[in-house]
Amino acid sequence: MATPVTPVGDLWPGGPQRPPDPPAEPKPLPDLIRLKRDGGRLSKQDIRSFVGAVVAGSAQGAQIGAMLMAIRLQGMDLEETVALTQALANSGQQLEWPAAWHQQLVDKHSTGGVGDKVSLVLAPALAACGCKVPMISGRGLGHTGGTLDKLESIPGFTVIQSPEQMQGLLEKVGCCIVGQSKELVPADGILYEARDVTATVDSLPLITASILSKKVVERLSALVVDVKFGGAAVFPGQAEARELARALVGVGAGLGLRVAAALTAMDHPLGRSVGHTLEVEEALLCMDGAGPPDLRDVVIRLGGALLWLNGQAEDQAEGAARVAAALDDGSARDRFERMLATQGVDPGLARALCSGTPAQRRQLLPRAREQEELLAPADGTVELVRALPLARVLHELGAGRSCAGEPLRFGVGAELLVDVGQRLRRGSPWLRVHLDAPALSDPQRRALQGALVLSDREPFAAPSPFSELILPPTDAQQ
Ligand code: URA
Repeated sequence: MATPVTPVGDLWPGGPQRPPDPPAEPKPLPDLIRLKRDGGRLSKQDIRSFVGAVVAGSAQGAQIGAMLMAIRLQGMDLEETVALTQALANSGQQLEWPAAWHQQLVDKHSTGGVGDKVSLVLAPALAACGCKVPMISGRGLGHTGGTLDKLESIPGFTVIQSPEQMQGLLEKVGCCIVGQSKELVPADGILYEARDVTATVDSLPLITASILSKKVVERLSALVVDVKFGGAAVFPGQAEARELARALVGVGAGLGLRVAAALTAMDHPLGRSVGHTLEVEEALLCMDGAGPPDLRDVVIRLGGALLWLNGQAEDQAEGAARVAAALDDGSARDRFERMLATQGVDPGLARALCSGTPAQRRQLLPRAREQEELLAPADGTVELVRALPLARVLHELGAGRSCAGEPLRFGVGAELLVDVGQRLRRGSPWLRVHLDAPALSDPQRRALQGALVLSDREPFAAPSPFSELILPPTDAQQ
């Protein structure tokens, strides 16, 4: 039988008979920074050498910050973004799973919101629906909260898990939620922290590469990304958010990853609680089959889209119904309890948290020292509680970081005592702030009161935050 021959031209796209040029000498970092600063394109090799220097520790903090700012200001084209994603993904180990799991591996990620505890609920709900969810998540970024920080507010929860431990978790529980480490996407961990303190969070290519690098390493079958738009989103305008959603779907396709992106509104916090332990409590409530309708709606719609995209449901509605059933029958909460116990939480505490009443749960998690309620300044219908000023005040009170590695105050947060569309009377409490300081300062109280938007409208039903779903190109279009 003839030996198959690969045409030389296929191996060396630069010329049919010529071996490829030897790789060019890597450029010094200041040259790479200058090139991007002045609006030039970085080659694949330039990007690899920048990321290599970041991981090796030979890039100084100032150089990392300068390059991030140059990318933030000049942007990157699709090819550069694919190269950055791949370089970040290659900075650590790739995860390997048993072949039998390949069609079951799914995940969800968010571009960052306020009160967004969807991952805490959706990972175990998907596991209860028969998926494997190896979620590599992030910490708080800018004013937005981070899934890992929320989970770390549960005493004992360990976000650093080796690839072998992750495999054990997927076998036993079906899901895990972990962070980057020296082994997993270390370059994203370093850049993520640097972005948080250099005003470079809101960059389309940096967000795209950060999110997708973690997902490439997970070797997923399908991914859904929740792209927020609105006043407290990283990109407030829906058009910009749609551009980010398209970049995520397009770069995902370029890397062989099936990605759908949902656009969801982030003007108002998701649910009624903001802050680490308060959000864990609300996530548990959602896994009791209860809790705020907007949170449940986003969880089941994202989960439904993902099950359908991955061929595990006939359509999105059937997928959503399966996720809803996992919330209502306690099977998502059971997976959550097993995940906590396997990721370092004392099994007795995990049990008590998952089976307790809301009041009992509150006793088990770190709490802030003080509470202060704000009163409605006038009669009116609640149009909105602006999430951004709320998040900024909570950040100042210790719920967020101002420099990399800063410890967080897990009990700090706020409970909304009202729903959008509800009639409110002057003098009735609308917000309960949990704080470690003796009281809010006057500017903080003013900023919070400014977050409440009242109107003269008749009471109305709050709209769903879910707006649209952007799907990957079909195989025929790729
Ligand atoms: N989540 C990430 O992992 N990275 C970002 O840049 C934003 C959200």
